[in-house]
Formats: sequence, structure tokens, C-alpha cells
Amino acid sequence: MKAIKIDGRSIAEALRASVARDVALLRDECKFTPGLAVVLVGKDPASSVYVKTKARQAQAVGFKSQQFQLPSDVDEAELLAVIEELNADESIDGILVQLPLPGHINRWRVLEAISPAKDVDGFHPYNVGRLAAGRPALAPCTPLGIVHLINTVVSDLNGLDVVVIGRSNIVGKPLALLLGDAGCTVTGAQLQTRNLPSICRKADIVVAAAGCAELVRGNWLKPGAIVIDVGINRAIDSIGNIRLVGDVAFAEASERASYITPVPGGVGPMTVAYLLANTVKAAVSRRGLSLVRNFESSYISQSCSREHDRALDLERLT
Ligand code: NAD
Repeated sequence: MKAIKIDGRSIAEALRASVARDVALLRDECKFTPGLAVVLVGKDPASSVYVKTKARQAQAVGFKSQQFQLPSDVDEAELLAVIEELNADESIDGILVQLPLPGHINRWRVLEAISPAKDVDGFHPYNVGRLAAGRPALAPCTPLGIVHLINTVVSDLNGLDVVVIGRSNIVGKPLALLLGDAGCTVTGAQLQTRNLPSICRKADIVVAAAGCAELVRGNWLKPGAIVIDVGINRAIDSIGNIRLVGDVAFAEASERASYITPVPGGVGPMTVAYLLANTVKAAVSRRGLSLVRNFESSYISQSCSREHDRALDLERLT
């Protein structure tokens, strides 16, 4: 068996096009433009690249996009004041503070200062709690993107066995909640998990989000499994070049899996696309509108090909 690659780039592109259509309709029919503010503290090169990508894509779908670049020695109070201003700014629907933050800043104080209604990263405890309770919430972008990718190859997740390797707040834990809600039997694995290969061998879907290069080997997989590789690790190849590798040994895994995401070009593009989708969602619900027919399921549990069927419910917008 040779696995089929799940092309995150083109699936994300389709999602961005759908967000752009939503933005145009909101602008034309409801006379507002969603606004996204991205706050970067310091000059970490990777964070700067992420922030630029987010801002560029936000502009491309038609958002009002604002960037705030604060020095790495900025006071926590000053950062909190920027967030307060953005919370109060009616033209801003989504606020994202790029992580990691410098050590002198309390990350939780900052994340909890963001209005839950504008928390497009889905990291505020209010949204985390609502997600855990199965209530509508702004959920974290990477897990939303992963569920979307899985849904492009299997639309009904009921009864499937899934192993999620890694239980961080931004990927593993929320993903386990989303997949559980979708009807999967989810095993959450972490560093302390024993017999991980044999646990994976029983799974219909393996999601690797450990940050550990090529952790998942081909012989860990049940033949025909779906493999989602979230990891982004820098490795040095035989001629000394740095290249990105995932948490899955791609070549080996491709011999056993039915579908597999590449690194790069798998989960990564979906994360930014869902930031945009979350911003539209926040913009709409902040205005008390329930704008999109099947809005939740179209982004979370429908396949990309069905994305085209999605339409804004204009009657309910006005
Ligand atoms: P994290 O360091 O916060 O958490 C890692 C988790 O993996 C922990 O629960 C840990 O117990 C577990 N783990 C580590 N080594 C393990 C092992 N050998 N066996 C089993 N479990 C193990 O990481 P994170 O922020 O969730 O990120 C995980 C990876 O995903 C990183 O490579 C990160 O760069 C990547 N990531 C990618 C995207 C994207 O958009 N593509 C988004 C977020 C994170």
C-alpha cells in the first residue's frame, strides 16, 4: 500500500477562499469588515515569520488587519494595556498574541486578558471550558484544521479509534475533545505512555503532536491507518542542510497508511486558515448574528468538497 498524501495547502486554500466569500458578503450585506489584530513581542525570527504570514493572509481574504510590534523588554502592564484597547475597539473582532512571550511576562495573565469573544486562538479558559462542555466556543486553530483534514478523507468518524500523541493545551487536549465529540474513541498518549507502538497499531487514525522527530515508525501503524503529522522539527540531513521533518517517519509510514499528511504542507497551512475562519466566526457572533447555515459543521466536520455547498443565510443576517 502506498498512502495518499493529504494536501493541506490546497485544502487550506479552499477554506481561505470560502472565508473570503464570507467577508465579501458581510461587507456587502451587513456593512462591516472583520478585523484581526496580531500582537508580537520581541523579534523571534520564527514568530516574526508566523505573524507576517497571518497578516498577509488576513489582508488577502479582505480583513482589516492590524499588527502591533512591541519590544522584547516591554512591560507586562504595557502589553495588557494594548490588549485592553483592542478589547474595546469595535472594529477589531479577533486578537492574537503570538507565543512564546518573553520570560518576564506572565503568559496566562496575557491570554486571560483577551476578551473571550475575540479570542480567535481559542486559548482563553472561558473558551477552553466551553469546548470541554460541548458548548459553542472559539476552539484552537490547529485542532480544528486537523479535524477538517481528517474529514476530507473520512466524513463519518463515529466509532473510529484514534490515538492523539501529545497533550498540550494548543493541540493534543483540544483535539481529543473535538474528536471525542465527533464520535471517536480517543486515546491520549504522552511522554509517560507505555507501549505506545502497540497502542498506535490498534488505531484507525494516529495524530502525532509530540515535537519529536520521526517518533512514529511505519511498523507502529495498522495497515490502512490515517496518519496526521503535526510535528515541526528541524533536522540536519546527510549533507548538512537543515530540513523540516515531522513526528512521523514519512517514507516508512507511507508504506502502511492509507492517507498521510506531509511536513511541510499538511497541518501547518490549516492552522492559519482556521485563524481566519475563527475571526469570521467571532465577528459574526459578537454582533449577535447566526450567519452561516451549518457554520459549525461546515468548518469542523464537513469535507472540503462539501465546502462549496455552504452558503450564508442572508435572511438571518439582517
Ligand atoms: P508541547 O511540547 O507543548 O507538547 C508535547 C506533548 O507531546 C506533551 O504532552 C508530551 O508529553 C508529548 N510527548 C513528547 N515526546 C513524546 C514521546 N516521545 N512520546 C509520547 N509523547 C510525547 O508541544 P505542542 O505545542 O503541542 O507541539 C507539538 C508539535 O507540533 C511541535 O513539533 C510543534 O512545532 C508542532 N505544532 C505544529 C503546529 C502546526 O500548525 N503545524 C501547531 C502547533 C504545534
